[in-house]
Amino acid sequence: MTKLTLQDFQTGETITWCPGCGNFGILRALQSALVDLGLPREQYLIVTGIGCHGKFTNYANANGFHGIHGRVLPVATGAKLANHYLTVLGFAGDADQFDEGMEHLPHAARRNIDVKLFTHDNKVYGLTTGQTSPTSDPGFKSKTSPAGSIPLAINPLRLALACDASFVARGWVGDVTHLKELIKAAIRHPGFAFVDILQVCVTFNRVNTYEFYRDRVYKLEEEKHDPADYRQAVIRSEEWGSRIPIGIVYRKERPVYHAALPQLAKQPLVKQPLQPGGLDNLMRSFG
Ligand code: SF4
Repeated sequence: MTKLTLQDFQTGETITWCPGCGNFGILRALQSALVDLGLPREQYLIVTGIGCHGKFTNYANANGFHGIHGRVLPVATGAKLANHYLTVLGFAGDADQFDEGMEHLPHAARRNIDVKLFTHDNKVYGLTTGQTSPTSDPGFKSKTSPAGSIPLAINPLRLALACDASFVARGWVGDVTHLKELIKAAIRHPGFAFVDILQVCVTFNRVNTYEFYRDRVYKLEEEKHDPADYRQAVIRSEEWGSRIPIGIVYRKERPVYHAALPQLAKQPLVKQPLQPGGLDNLMRSFG
């Protein structure tokens, strides 16, 4: 098979994100990761929610499903269980995932559904022109909190750890090469992988800028962090302020959900013959 190039994972569609938007870095990191992994495009399904990130399905050349607000994980889970040979990649915004879609994370994580969830965490609602999001820090000023956000921010890493996600990581858009490696590691991980990506929204978030992160991020792998150590992972997940860790926070392999389903033992659901009338018989059995 001819090795695919970056161009193969581009659609050629005009990109309409604001100039300087962090989504450019995530898109480039994803496309580079897919080139490195060397699998055919049809191997991948990209699922997105609602938000500026949702245009990934227009710009990344693979199978795509642009879902509704907050429902990246249910769609990704359904697709994976229908065809577990697919590599299913979910992309969600911070508000998309932690407001509308919050209830889906614990269940995907505890079941260890073999999908990968990447959160474009820009700490603001971008597509709807600048409202406070669940990951906005206290004091963040926006259209919906002009005097400053009151509640504590959701900590995506600590949340994913509490939900028993088997792979938890954080990247940021100012280091695309590092982010690419994280995306590859998440895809290779057998089971549910969560990567929180610190994405810069240059238009509506003037606090969490490129400069803000550049001054604070450090790489876990340069500090002898052991991703197998859950307690260490929790301590690292709580760092936010003058130092912000990026890299693989936690990783532990355990059985994936679909492998335990006897119905899928021989072949994926999508390959199994339809049984016309089967549903009718089932419904009649309740009568
Ligand atoms: Fe990017 Fe923010 Fe513009 Fe949306 S509004 S495209 S997140 S910079």
